[in-house]
Amino acid sequence: MGAFDGKVALVTGAGGGLGRAYALALAKGGASVVVNDLGVSRHGEDEGQALAEKVVDEIKALGGKAVADRGSVASADDAQAMVTRAIESFGRLDIVINNAGILRDKTLVRMNEAMWDQVIDVHLKGTFLVTKFAVEAMIKAGQGGRIINTSSYAGLKGNFGQTNYGAAKAGIAGLTRVVALECARYKVTCNAIAPVAKTRMTEELDMVPESYAAEDVAPLVMWLASEEAAGVSGRVFGAHGRHYFEYVMETTPGVEREQAWTLEAVGENFEAITAPAGTGGEAAGEDAARARAIFEALPQVFDREAGASWDAGLVFEVRGAGTFGLRVNEGRASFVEGAPDKVSAKVEFDSAQTLIELAAGQLSAQKAFMAGKIKADTMGALMKFASFFDLQAAGAIAAGGAADAQSPSAASEGGGQGAEGPNGEVVGKKFKMPARHLKPSEMIAYAEAVDDRQARYLSEEAEGGLVAAPLFAVQPLIGALEAAMTDEELNADMLRLVHGEQEMIFHDVLRPWDLVSPRSEIASVEEKSSGWLIEVRQRLMREGEVVVEASSALFVRKPSDGTSPKKSNDSKKARAGEEERESPEVVFSQEQVVAEDQPRRYAAASGDHNPIHVDEEVARAAGLPDVILHGLCTMAFAARAAVEGVADGRVERLKRMKVRFARPVFRGQQLTTRLWEVEPGRYGLETLNEKGQPVLTHGEVEVE
Ligand code: NAD
Repeated sequence: MGAFDGKVALVTGAGGGLGRAYALALAKGGASVVVNDLGVSRHGEDEGQALAEKVVDEIKALGGKAVADRGSVASADDAQAMVTRAIESFGRLDIVINNAGILRDKTLVRMNEAMWDQVIDVHLKGTFLVTKFAVEAMIKAGQGGRIINTSSYAGLKGNFGQTNYGAAKAGIAGLTRVVALECARYKVTCNAIAPVAKTRMTEELDMVPESYAAEDVAPLVMWLASEEAAGVSGRVFGAHGRHYFEYVMETTPGVEREQAWTLEAVGENFEAITAPAGTGGEAAGEDAARARAIFEALPQVFDREAGASWDAGLVFEVRGAGTFGLRVNEGRASFVEGAPDKVSAKVEFDSAQTLIELAAGQLSAQKAFMAGKIKADTMGALMKFASFFDLQAAGAIAAGGAADAQSPSAASEGGGQGAEGPNGEVVGKKFKMPARHLKPSEMIAYAEAVDDRQARYLSEEAEGGLVAAPLFAVQPLIGALEAAMTDEELNADMLRLVHGEQEMIFHDVLRPWDLVSPRSEIASVEEKSSGWLIEVRQRLMREGEVVVEASSALFVRKPSDGTSPKKSNDSKKARAGEEERESPEVVFSQEQVVAEDQPRRYAAASGDHNPIHVDEEVARAAGLPDVILHGLCTMAFAARAAVEGVADGRVERLKRMKVRFARPVFRGQQLTTRLWEVEPGRYGLETLNEKGQPVLTHGEVEVE
């Protein structure tokens, strides 16, 4: 059985070179093939050679099925005719490989209009025409499809003497991305490859090695055409002989100004605008030297008494600056070039800048950790490192201020986590995340992570197509929420933070490839007796309209004064509220067990990497017996119960949901969600653990 049994493919320009290799490989895999070729020379002249027929004969000799087509891809009538030929000859069309091409190379000033037009016509217009007619047929047949276009290094990176060809090939990459977006809902994927192989087109080019065979490129194209690549679309792959890779279009983090840009400001910021993520721009070299100086200074600021019994080999990888080591034993610390002999823990910094800001007290370690700027394979070692080494003193030594470093209080001033608590003056501050497309894979991963296994959340094949599980919107919103919570000016201590309440308002369901823009705003900061209550409102925009609204109430506990923690009046009131309510008449109840790997799965699928959910050492350091489940995962369990219990299993009917997080949830617990009617369309909800203690209270659900 071949991978393409029963499939029908159209390969343009398949009379030789790469196209022939694709046509033969597809036919060997069981596909019936329309072999198109206008039969022209390398420069598009001498039309009418029987190139397509020869390849058809080769396929037939191998026992395969094929028909020849001598049309030109640059003609709308011919392009339509080749699609029709596939359907008339073999009954359908599943795969199109847009491969036909010619060259008319000249430098810009020597290139005439005809040369420009010919190349743009065959490559760019030809790809457009064949794709358009093929997609029309694929949509009509409703069986999905695969389009594979041909781009080129010349268009993606640039090549001397090929303005026409480069423009056409870059245009094809752009066309590919747009077709992928438009066709996702029809299960038609569209990708491009940029090949390099020795063919008629490249026979005179010394830089293409003889060993680069067209047959070596074909397997990548075959894979993209196969069932396996159903989830791959809108991407461009390189195939240089047997070297396969992906071309990715990157953007730098860039600079956003409050005030309007001026010509001078652009010049001053140019390095920062163009600096890749984590490099710190032109200062990178200087920063690397400073990072090294900080590590060299660390042995001088080691707390010998506190760290007397610590025996460890630490390796620090600082992106863009190098690898540094520390050896600690018998109350001494020493700097090691590279990694020490025995490594007991590895710590990664995303850039030298992060280390420098930490050492200057401009960035708090918790925030850097929460934002993923620092990673450690052993949390315990990272915590010991933080308490036995005075990083800010090392920073001061590295900066040449050794005298200041003697006074730890001087080093801890300025930035960092102030003792005053969150700053109410930032109320109204807004945060905007870049727009992005929602991928089916992330929707499926989320539904799996919250054990909501309705077929429509898990498969694109489901009736009506894939829709996102009820609370999936929290995933695209998390970055906007985190941006608000870790805002330097807000100054909220992330390790003292608990999620109090969450409200979600749904205007529509989310679907794959929706283009969404997450926004957030610090809505209020209120001081209470035991801490600060911060409300962050979030909005997920889709094509200019709000599709989901969320509001998160977060509580930042005040640091304790060493006495045992007292229950605050606020929480007493909350508990009293629970007791006062009469027992409701439960209309639906659902049980769910928190799996051992649930917090880890949820962290991966939701993007909430707070270590308190995944790292036992961090949880214990926070006084908890084990890692706790994300509150929003518990809420997702409850949302599933709401949809299944009072919305006929239709996520579209869920319009609003609000809960209060009353107690931590641990792995292995059995949770029961109960719903009762308050008035038609409005329900109360609570979730209890197996001891009958409420973990979600004050639940409100509205359905349509
Ligand atoms: P090739 O010259 O062997 O094949 C191109 C085929 O397209 C020819 O058989 C030609 O007759 C046919 N053709 C030309 N105009 C046509 C038209 N209007 N309608 C239908 N058929 C037409 O060259 P190749 O190297 O096999 O190139 C295949 C594709 O790969 C081209 O799009 C080319 O730009 C691209 N490409 C090739 C390389 C390489 O290293 N070979 C590098 C980058 C991109």
